[in-house]
Formats: sequence, structure tokens, C-alpha cells
Amino acid sequence: MWYQPKVQLATGRIIGAEALIRWQHPEMGMVSPAVFIPIAEESSLIVSLGEWAFRTACETVAEWKRQALFPGRIAVNISGRQLKFGGIAELVNRTLSDLGMPSDCLELEVTESVAMDDDSGMIDVLYRLQELGVYLSIDDFGTGYSSLSYLKRLPVRGLKIDRSFVLNLHEDRDDAAIARAIISIAGSLGLDLVAEGVELEEHREFLLRNGCIWAQGYLFSRPLPPAEFEARLRAQQAEDLKGAR
Ligand code: C2E
Ligand code: MG
Ligand code: MG
Ligand code: MG
Repeated sequence: MWYQPKVQLATGRIIGAEALIRWQHPEMGMVSPAVFIPIAEESSLIVSLGEWAFRTACETVAEWKRQALFPGRIAVNISGRQLKFGGIAELVNRTLSDLGMPSDCLELEVTESVAMDDDSGMIDVLYRLQELGVYLSIDDFGTGYSSLSYLKRLPVRGLKIDRSFVLNLHEDRDDAAIARAIISIAGSLGLDLVAEGVELEEHREFLLRNGCIWAQGYLFSRPLPPAEFEARLRAQQAEDLKGAR
């Protein structure tokens, strides 16, 4: 598992992270999760893979929390099949209690298509997770066939603007309009908002100017292996201590 900082746009300060799975293949090199996750999702493999990803991320962050290094929440991606058949609430409950990690340290990211699934069992699972104190956010917001009504129906706390809207927002009026509209929806519904794929200073300026507070993207940091992420956390902590003196 690798970790990408979620930061405050204004300052670049790390306020949490997203855990992203990596596969170092002996012959093929680094295989992108965009390639192998959809394949795993076609079978029950996604359940065991997802469990491993979830547990590994929680173990790593629990250790950083013990050292008072890690601020905020660790976000883990959860696929529809895991929610439906994977006993996710039990996994969350068991893992957090094993690790002595409070549930408000945990965020689960699900895509719109998952949130749109009308299966009542799925909705129950999401409420069960909310009761456990877990923070739920909608990933890749704006890319699904969304009716938006699920935002009312589900215990969602945050949205992530998809990177495809951020990419050209400094030069494409439509993307700029969509980004502004999403910022406005989040604000009106009282949802937190993170912009994905912030790569350029122009992206940062636009988003800040339009009221977006949090972001993730190469401008701040790529996803990092745990040791490198930990080094970033230590550097931030050292800065804080210097500031406090
Ligand atoms: P996602 O959840 O939307 O994750 C964000 C993706 O955008 C990550 O790709 C990240 O590396 C990439 N990204 C972040 N900032 C930038 C940027 O500034 N520019 C560009 N071009 N890309 C950026 P990654 O790590 O390849 O993951 C792809 C997708 O695979 C994820 O999209 C997520 O849907 C899925 N995935 C990754 N890890 C897991 C996992 O543990 N479980 C499940 N179920 N899905 C996962
Ligand atoms: Mg995600
Ligand atoms: Mg995303
Ligand atoms: Mg995305």
C-alpha cells in the first residue's frame, strides 16, 4: 500500500491521506490498480484483496497514530462487491478494535455507481458503517450517471471532484463551470470537498479562489511508499515544533 497526502490547498499542509494499492509484478514491473482492480472486481478476489488493502493501511496508520505523527483520517477505497458481499462492517469493526484505532480516523471512498446501487442491503451496510463512526465519501464525483438524490438518501459526508474536471479547469470553460458547480453543491449540502488531480499552480489558484479547501495531487505529492510518507510526516512535525518555539 502507498499513501498520497490530502492537503490544505492554502498551505500544502497534510491533513490526511488516501491509501492506494500497488502491485510490483516480477516481470511486468509496476502494474496500475486501474488495470488489476477492475479484473479483481469481476470475481470474489476483490474481497480478499480489499481486506488485505484495508487491514494493511489501518495497521500502518495505527502505528503512525501511536507515534502522534498522522493527522486526520486514512481514506481507503472500497469497491461495490466488498460492500455487498464482503462483510465490510464486520471487517471495519474487528480491525479497528484489534488495532485500538478510533473509527473517526477512518474514511471509506466509494464511487457514485456504488452509491447509486438501490440494493437495500447495500444502503443498510452504509448506515451500519456510519453508526460505527466511519466517514463516507463519494469518489470521482461527477463521472457516474448520478441522480444526486443518493446524496440525500445516504450517510455521505464528503465528495471528491474527479481529476478529469480538474485537469483543464484553468483553460476549459466547461470544466471550470463543472468544478464551480460541484464546489457549490458540496457547500450547499454541507459536505466536505476534496479536489483530485491537482497538478498545477493554476489549478490550486482556481480552486482556492472558488472556495475549495482540500486537495490531492502531484502538485503537492505523488502517492508514496510508507517510508517516504512517514518521512513527510516527520518533516511536517519538525516544522510544527519549530513554529511553536
Ligand atoms: P482513485 O481512488 O480515484 O485514486 C486516485 C488516483 O489518481 C490514484 O491512481 C492516484 O495515484 C491518482 N492521482 C492522484 N493525484 C494525481 C495527479 O495529480 N495527477 C494524476 N494524473 N493522477 C493523480 P492509482 O493509485 O493508479 O489508482 C487508480 C484507482 O484504482 C483508484 O482511483 C481506485 O479507484 C482504485 N484503487 C486503488 N487502490 C485501491 C484499493 O486499495 N481498493 C480498491 N477497491 N480500489 C483501489
Ligand atoms: Mg479514491
Ligand atoms: Mg478518486
Ligand atoms: Mg478519480
